[in-house]
Amino acid sequence: MIAADAQPGEGQRDLGDVQAEAPGPTVIVIAAIHGNEPAGVLAARQVIAALQAGSTRLCGGRVAGLVGNLGAMQAGVRGRVRDLNRAWTADQIAAVRAQHPDADDPEQAEQRALLGRLEDLFETARGPVVVLDLHTTSGGGPPFTVPPDTLAARRLGLALPFPLILGLLESVDGTVGEWVTRRGHTGLGVETGQHTDPQAVSLHAATIWRILHALGQIDAEPPEVAQAFAQVPADLPSVVVLAHRHGVTPGDGFHMRPGYAGFQRVRRGEVLAFDRAGPVVAPMTGRLLMPLYQQQGSDGFFVVRDVRRPWLVASSVLRRAGGHLLVRALGARMAEEELHFDRPPGAPARALLVLLGYRRQELDGQRLRAHRLQEPRRRPRRR
Ligand SMILES: [Zn+2]
Repeated sequence: MIAADAQPGEGQRDLGDVQAEAPGPTVIVIAAIHGNEPAGVLAARQVIAALQAGSTRLCGGRVAGLVGNLGAMQAGVRGRVRDLNRAWTADQIAAVRAQHPDADDPEQAEQRALLGRLEDLFETARGPVVVLDLHTTSGGGPPFTVPPDTLAARRLGLALPFPLILGLLESVDGTVGEWVTRRGHTGLGVETGQHTDPQAVSLHAATIWRILHALGQIDAEPPEVAQAFAQVPADLPSVVVLAHRHGVTPGDGFHMRPGYAGFQRVRRGEVLAFDRAGPVVAPMTGRLLMPLYQQQGSDGFFVVRDVRRPWLVASSVLRRAGGHLLVRALGARMAEEELHFDRPPGAPARALLVLLGYRRQELDGQRLRAHRLQEPRRRPRRR
């Protein structure tokens, strides 16, 4: 367990900053955007301290670590009044920018400070920018990555020996990873297990090292990376896509049947849980993700399905070839960057939307709105 006194208590947002002489990517580690998830903070400190000490040399670019929600971390809570990882929609950011700081609620004050640091790092970058958003969960389970659905984020996620989950961010608005992507950079969310498990720290540290190596910023990974990744179960899938979310509300008496673990295979019709209405069954064959065994939370469980390699290749080829023009042939109107369907599109159109990286939003059970994130822009390196 991570002892309480091992939690950083200096009240500093900056977790360190290392710059190489040579230009290269800027990797920004955001830790504890959920204040009760200190593992990423400890990991970022470890990696940056090792780079500063020179035991591993940074041969290009920059690495900086930031605490996401400092006040919530000091209070030991996820957020003080809100979830800071749902606050990054264009409207919410515009509201913070327009408002006087005295009017900020605790999370807006955090966001204002974080925005300032992030904009500064974006502005001074001498190469591509990658933002790693480090998380842990209350329920534990195997590690996984959650990329905003761009090919660049996918590619980065595949450098890690964790399952990559496509489509999970689709139902969530306002994550920092999505904002980073809209700003033309690459974001990647990483979950490494239970909040107080020391393995979550070593997996986060190994994640940062692996990404630095994948980006060519270090020549070799320190030996603890292989040790940490050896602890990851070998039978995990490589890429999965969200197929179903079972939402729960406090009154419905939801409880999982005991013994389910993350990524465990389930069959269609299998009884997974019970609520007031009776048994809750798996609506399709797949794998179970994040079964809810705590009292709190609005996600009962998710079912994900394995994604085969040809599907990944097809989606990559289609996106590069401008395949998004195809969806217009399926009855969509294009309005600015969004697609609008006045009637629910059929299964082939939905599959195509996922393939092309569109995030869907049901409006009233009939109409559907979809938009996709743009790939990171290529920028000339500044000297
Ligand atoms: Zn989190």
